[in-house]
Amino acid sequence: MNITVEPASITYEATAACYLFFSKQEEGDLAVYAQIEGTKIKGNCILDQTGKRFEGEYTFELERELPSFEVKRFLSAAAARAIRRAAAAHGKDLVLPWGLMLGVRPAKLLREYHERGYSYEEAAQRLVLIYGISEEKAELLKTVAQKEAALLSQTDDSLVSLYVGIPFCPTRCLYCSFVSNDMRKSKNYIEPYCELLVREIHAMREVTEALGKKVQTIYIGGGTPTSLNENQIARILEALTDGLDTSNLKEFTVEAGRADTVTREKLQVIKQFPVSRVSINPQTFHDTTLERIGRCHNVADVCRAYEAVRETADFQINMDLIAGLPGESEKMFRESIDRLLELGPENATVHTLCLKRGSRLSQGDDEVDAHNVNGMLSYAQSRLTEQGYFPYYLYRQKYMVDNLENVGYALPGTENLYNVNIMEESQTILASGCGASSKLVNRETGKIERVFNFKDPIEYISRFDEILERKRKILDLI
Ligand code: SF4
Repeated sequence: MNITVEPASITYEATAACYLFFSKQEEGDLAVYAQIEGTKIKGNCILDQTGKRFEGEYTFELERELPSFEVKRFLSAAAARAIRRAAAAHGKDLVLPWGLMLGVRPAKLLREYHERGYSYEEAAQRLVLIYGISEEKAELLKTVAQKEAALLSQTDDSLVSLYVGIPFCPTRCLYCSFVSNDMRKSKNYIEPYCELLVREIHAMREVTEALGKKVQTIYIGGGTPTSLNENQIARILEALTDGLDTSNLKEFTVEAGRADTVTREKLQVIKQFPVSRVSINPQTFHDTTLERIGRCHNVADVCRAYEAVRETADFQINMDLIAGLPGESEKMFRESIDRLLELGPENATVHTLCLKRGSRLSQGDDEVDAHNVNGMLSYAQSRLTEQGYFPYYLYRQKYMVDNLENVGYALPGTENLYNVNIMEESQTILASGCGASSKLVNRETGKIERVFNFKDPIEYISRFDEILERKRKILDLI
């Protein structure tokens, strides 16, 4: 589809709005215009396709002229709403609980309004007005933004977080778009990778010390960190914690995403270090789905892993579920939520299936046939909050089913600070390992510098000197 946008300053937003309704491969010419006339902000869209014309227009009529920070926001929204009307005329109307909001950090946006003097309620209603988000999502956002604000106040300039990426998993899930390598194919790289990773962690620790920063949170993710053997896990944990000043260390998470990688021996190793949180991610409590998405474990393995973690130490446990997995009905998802609640982890993260490029699912390896994914999310929210959990972080990604959201829930006092800090880009995060990127946040100016690592373990190994060089450059950047 050929898309033209006027003014050019909203091209990115208007193009993204087009792709909510039309595929990139579709034929046709789509023209979008938006303009401000005093207190009116008008959007027009004309789609010419196969000899037919579809038109849409939308006008915001405001009581007073817009402040400068909202001009682009309203122009983009008027354009997006006009596109939606043209799409409806074409027969492509969608139910969009987030309306035409496209950003990945809606809570940050809401907090921005709050910092400008709006109450949380007024800020939420402003987003309803601009983007047409539903009252249900506005309410959720308000809750999350307030929880996040309280959590973000726990960090300051003297604190950083450390992240370590382990890019290996027993198999590759159908929907996976992360940096993850099937261990059966990459087993020869695992040990050399771990050796170099330990060196990079030492370099990361040196940078932390040179900056005079204290570590507030540590997160080992991936991939599946517990894919490694006991010895490898111990060496990585040792490199992270040996001589570490833990006076400010609030939490330390190890992801043990795949139940088939969790053993009591590995947990005994993990217990020797100041790890406080373990994440076991069943994604579903249905064996048929686990098989369909390419996992080589079943629900009984998840329950065994959960028991083992509980019995090993006083770890907080997180469990992830995904709404909208192939072949799953709303009833099946509800059953998964209910099973999770029977187990009772401290944290539950409810994701919406994401059809990112790079996943087998987006390349047609299976059908996505999910219905009423928003209904699944609503059920999760009502059941979890009824049981004392509350939503404390929320983010969205491109290509999520129905443009929905991911939400982290926690029992009071067990919120994961790392998740909030990374999502809201409020703290410097120094990162090591494949696919990891360090984010250097200047809290005063809001400026963020990113330093990337290679995604492929072979490249990581063969170009490791460059990785170390990039680590050293962090000091110059800061
Ligand atoms: S467990 Fe996570 S990282 Fe590993 S293959 Fe599955 S989705 Fe990807």
